Amino acid sequence: MERYKLIKEVGDGTFGSVWRAINKQTGEVVAIKKMKKRYYSWEECVSLREVKSLRRMNHLNIVKLKEVIRESDILYFVFEYMEYNLYQLIKDKEKLFPEADIRNWCFQVFQGLAYMHQRGYFHRDLKPENLLVTKDVIKIADFGLAREIDSQPPYTEYVSTRWYRAPEVLLQSYLYSSKVDMWAMGAIMAELFTLRPLFPGVSEADEIYKICSVIGSPTKDSWADGLHLARDINYQFPQFAGVHLSTLIPSASESAISLMTSLCSWDPSKRPTAAEALQHPFFQSCYYVPPSLRSRSTVARTPPFAGARGASEQQCARKLSGTLSNSKISSNFPSPKLHASMGTGVQRKLDMVNQVSADAYSFICFI
Ligand code: ADP
Ligand code: MG
Repeated sequence: MERYKLIKEVGDGTFGSVWRAINKQTGEVVAIKKMKKRYYSWEECVSLREVKSLRRMNHLNIVKLKEVIRESDILYFVFEYMEYNLYQLIKDKEKLFPEADIRNWCFQVFQGLAYMHQRGYFHRDLKPENLLVTKDVIKIADFGLAREIDSQPPYTEYVSTRWYRAPEVLLQSYLYSSKVDMWAMGAIMAELFTLRPLFPGVSEADEIYKICSVIGSPTKDSWADGLHLARDINYQFPQFAGVHLSTLIPSASESAISLMTSLCSWDPSKRPTAAEALQHPFFQSCYYVPPSLRSRSTVARTPPFAGARGASEQQCARKLSGTLSNSKISSNFPSPKLHASMGTGVQRKLDMVNQVSADAYSFICFI
């Protein structure tokens, strides 16, 4: 850790505190997450599901884990540094975000999710605080830790925020899937439009109540499995007809409303997958090239971005080139290996898999 100089604390959760720091050798600014739980063996750290999964994630819309360091029984995650989290941007905003910005962000997050889900991982704790933004680029953070977090109480209000929790999780289903992330994205997308949470429940029961009042109570047709889940735990849904989302989110276009409505479906199987969401008419002005059609050289040079058509296109393109020239997509770390210092028992470091692979980048062009 002596290679890094801690500058400022930028986040403090139940499980760790996050610092902006500088790599003294390279001058690179990084974010270092210092875990509160003690880790008494290196094996305990490297076998963490979360470490394994994060090491394998190599996508422009997933925050890059650069190193894991254990020193004096303390575990540190070294990430690429991002300027803001989405909650900070929402909180400080007085005017609504332009729909083009929301489209850009969502398109990028769905690309990160499509990549993650395709690899068999899902986040389970998507919320504005866990989406990090630097200029036009948004990245998913704090993922994979949810499982660890679940097993490590105590919980705080901050960590256990339920506003983005899918109904099947609220109803204690054991069989939930990547569709929980799609539900969360519906709620987050709505919040980006209104700057207010869509389902701000003050308890788990109130959360379900709020969901019913917005999307209408589930029926045999809309979610038969949900009625079974509710019966299993002796829960009775309050009865609401629901409202059309356009009445709650008047600034959103028809296609945005259609996407949010399908994301916020009671039945997980009726929510689109991340790959399907990318094909939704809301993203018509965005161009997604599936991994199978990408060539390595094109991918390495092509930035991720989504933009609106027309005049703002050029503006976006200009902004983008500035962003890219400043951003390091990936540095050249060696293949995963334990460093020589491993034997000392004092400091151990794990480098991340960080090779540029053709399907590591998804990207967006203008048409
Ligand atoms: P927690 O488990 O405490 O929620 P997170 O990984 O979500 O931990 O980090 C908490 C906060 O720290 C985030 O909401 C964000 O504001 C900040 N943060 C996390 N990672 C980074 C990063 N790579 N760059 C900048 N800030 C970050
Ligand atoms: Mg977090």
